[in-house]
Amino acid sequence: MRFNRLKLTGFKSFVDPTDLIIADGLTGIVGPNGCGKSNLLEALRWVMGENRPKAMRGGGMEDVIFAGASSRPARNFAEVTLLMDNSERLAPSGFNDADQLEIVRRITRDVGSAYKANGKDVRARDIQILFADASTGAHSPALVRQGQIAELINAKPTSRRRILEEAAGISGLYQRRHEAELKLKGTETNLTRVDDVLEQLG
Ligand code: ATP
Repeated sequence: MRFNRLKLTGFKSFVDPTDLIIADGLTGIVGPNGCGKSNLLEALRWVMGENRPKAMRGGGMEDVIFAGASSRPARNFAEVTLLMDNSERLAPSGFNDADQLEIVRRITRDVGSAYKANGKDVRARDIQILFADASTGAHSPALVRQGQIAELINAKPTSRRRILEEAAGISGLYQRRHEAELKLKGTETNLTRVDDVLEQLG
């Protein structure tokens, strides 16, 4: 799936609605220090389900909401929309019913985050699995933070293996396995309960 556009409103320094067109080939973002280049990459990771405030350079997730400036009051919510081309129907099932896939994440003060995929409410987990299946996502090695190369060089072999697994497109399978294991555990507990009830009846 190709990323086509990133739309932001109230996200960090992008208080006004901002539309970033991601054209074919390379897209470069240039600008003076502090103009918001890293905020744009963070918006991309955030809409793909990033749930660690620290990875957003904040203390809490609400820190991504525009905090106000001398001339403008703080906002009450932040919203990021990612538009992807799905004309080749590469999105996983459940997200694959249109030529375009639009993911929206909104965070509202004191309420938290909510996600939509093509207008329908979805869980954070669904979004994380969607991008993990597509070998991208908030933790994807395709998005390289400042200082990340040095971290990689010094990383332990297990962390490097995670990067290879991501590149091989199998990290989505791990997340699905985890969900399946949780369901299995729940079912085992229910079976034990049924056994107890049967014993009492017998
Ligand atoms: P550099 O080139 O120095 O790495 P940059 O272009 O990547 O800079 P960012 O780090 O993306 O810039 O942007 C930092 C700016 O975003 C700062 O001016 C900071 O005050 C502003 N900012 C971050 N969070 C918020 C927020 N919640 N509300 C308002 N402004 C914010």
